[in-house]
Amino acid sequence: MFIVMLGVPGAGKGTQAQRLEERLGLRQVSTGDIFRENLRNQTPLGQLAKSYMDKGELVPDDVTIQMVEERLSRPDCARGAILDGFPRTLAQAAALDQMLSGKGQKVALVPLISVTDDEVMARLTGRRVCRRCQSVFHLLFNRPPPDGECPQGDKSQCDIYQRGDDQPETVRNRLFVYYKQTSPLIGYYFAHGLLAEINGAQEIDRVTSDLWDVLSRIQA
Ligand code: ADP
Ligand code: ADP
Repeated sequence: MFIVMLGVPGAGKGTQAQRLEERLGLRQVSTGDIFRENLRNQTPLGQLAKSYMDKGELVPDDVTIQMVEERLSRPDCARGAILDGFPRTLAQAAALDQMLSGKGQKVALVPLISVTDDEVMARLTGRRVCRRCQSVFHLLFNRPPPDGECPQGDKSQCDIYQRGDDQPETVRNRLFVYYKQTSPLIGYYFAHGLLAEINGAQEIDRVTSDLWDVLSRIQA
């Protein structure tokens, strides 16, 4: 089962994908996380992605699509995946459909997590991430563990940092890029009968339970 998480930057896609991962037994595939890992390891892909990420622009489609194709071809995605941050353009959505149809599979559901732009600004400026396990926290709404223990790690300490692109100016550009390049996907997936809108302006647990409800309906 392939699930595509859709929503503005900061809507809660990563937070919810991490929670669904265990429940569904499917891997979260976050293109942002893959780019950041490449950045840390100073690979050519990371160096290429950096200039786009720093400005809040999208990494070119051909590079992104190739990267996702390679990731989805690994055995841990044979049964499906929770795609978080991909696709972000209509060309990426078409490429995903093609990749999956090549394996006799297709996208099963596209939850659209809706929140207002003001909420996003508040969320992203307070967002903190663990470098080790990629867990997502918030200084007010979802605080990092006080003892520093990594929730998904192997009992080691979290290495919490603030992403460079979570500064207000970059966040505003990322929102603009979302409306320009990613929001057409709402129509695309609606037309395919796959869109399920979820109210993202609720407590994290409530959003998870609404998501679970729509997922249970398609699994039934
Ligand atoms: P957020 O979770 O806040 O939406 P991500 O971690 O998904 O942010 O993405 C961070 C950055 O990585 C994006 O601003 C963009 O530069 C790059 N990126 C991630 N996914 C894609 C994609 N599918 N296509 C192009 N660029 C991407
Ligand atoms: P996205 O992947 O869509 O960019 P994240 O999952 O990284 O979004 O969440 C962005 C920030 O908002 C994080 O700091 C996260 O802890 C926080 N957050 C996520 N969901 C909620 C929620 N329902 N209420 C309050 N804060 C939230």
